Amino acid sequence: MPIPGHIDPVPVPREVTAREDGRVDLIGLPRKQIAELFETAGLDAKAAKLRAKQVFHWLYHRGVTEFEAMTDIAKTMRPWLAERFVIGRPEVVEAQVSTDGTRKWLLCTADKQDFEMVFIPDADRGTLCVSSQVGCTLNCRFCHTGTMRLVRNLTPGEIVGQVMLARDALGEWPRGANDTRTGTMAGLDFDDEDEEAASAYTPDGRLLTNIVMMGMGEPLYNFDNVRDALKIVMDGDGLALSKRRITLSTSGVVPMMARAGEEIGVNLAVSLHAVTKEVRDEIVPINRKFGLEELLQACADYPGASNARRITFEYVMLKDKNDSDDDARELVRLIKQYRLPAKVNLIPFNPWPGAPYECSTPERIKRFAEIVFDAGISAPVRTPRGRDIDAACGQLKTAAERKSRAELDRLAEEKQAALG
Ligand code: SAH
Ligand code: SF4
Repeated sequence: MPIPGHIDPVPVPREVTAREDGRVDLIGLPRKQIAELFETAGLDAKAAKLRAKQVFHWLYHRGVTEFEAMTDIAKTMRPWLAERFVIGRPEVVEAQVSTDGTRKWLLCTADKQDFEMVFIPDADRGTLCVSSQVGCTLNCRFCHTGTMRLVRNLTPGEIVGQVMLARDALGEWPRGANDTRTGTMAGLDFDDEDEEAASAYTPDGRLLTNIVMMGMGEPLYNFDNVRDALKIVMDGDGLALSKRRITLSTSGVVPMMARAGEEIGVNLAVSLHAVTKEVRDEIVPINRKFGLEELLQACADYPGASNARRITFEYVMLKDKNDSDDDARELVRLIKQYRLPAKVNLIPFNPWPGAPYECSTPERIKRFAEIVFDAGISAPVRTPRGRDIDAACGQLKTAAERKSRAELDRLAEEKQAALG
């Protein structure tokens, strides 16, 4: 049977359109580049460096969205900055909250490309699922995002911007000690009392504690932008999230995996989903380019993987496709053969209209999990979250495309009002 879908990264059809007003968005730029821009705009080298450091702190540590709020920068300097630069956020097209607390946002870039972001609260953590591309070139057969045409890579600013927006919406910028007001989409202005409270702030009570690069897109096909964005997320004076709390998920772009370990150093998740060439070729077509042996060897070589920092194998449970006892036993054999410090996440398939598969039965999933677990490998079954708000990756975007622009604008206004 011919397998649909291309496996090579297609040339990205369109680069980012420049802002019409000629100003530069600072979100996503490293400190050094901000300093260079300030210097080009007329500051001397020393002043540019100092201002860049201050601005970086305000952007990422305090989450301000207006230069006017940067109180340690001279009053005359603030309009100078505002004339030349902006502090961007992705636009919210639609925001939904599930009955189980999962939140999903349909976001929009300045050049009107829609993409998604999901926040999943749990008892001990809150995980933000971040997108790396608009669409995906890889056409995994069970994945709804794979049915979309890739529009373009997201920029570092649009990737970091998702985390910034989540913190805005969850009210998690340092302002009173762990003030959890829901949603401040506009600029925050601090007074002296806030300054004091901010210095006493600790991240412990935050809702957003973890990030997974598991939204739309293949992060290793947008390597540079994902790396630059995550560097800011991990920067001690940036969003200051530990690399141990960030996970990058790949469908198996083998040639980029070592670089991901060396240059980003976050936890690795691999969308394995099948243990034979035949089945993986069908459901994860990149397997025809980088086969199972190569992929597992790259996992064995992944810098930083250890028993304390295991590689996660994602395995979507598809009825009569990859869910037999033999499949489970082969999974165990492969993990042992390559001596992988691994855990397995069993994901019940989340169906979407027209999907060519069904989810395995609960009994089948339970049996599969037992076989893996009995071999000494952790194999939790993921509870589906946010089913009532179209949680399967890519669904919100498709649902939104069926609505008219006017309807979306009205919804966006309502959501802004609800969040703000
Ligand atoms: N492109 C990367 C990251 C985004 S996909 C990758 O493939 O790893 C994130 C995870 O969601 C992957 O493991 C993917 O296989 C899984 N996924 C996609 N569609 C799904 C569906 N309909 N049901 C369950 N899991 C799905
Ligand atoms: Fe792309 Fe990942 Fe979906 Fe495959 S599973 S189509 S790689 S987003």
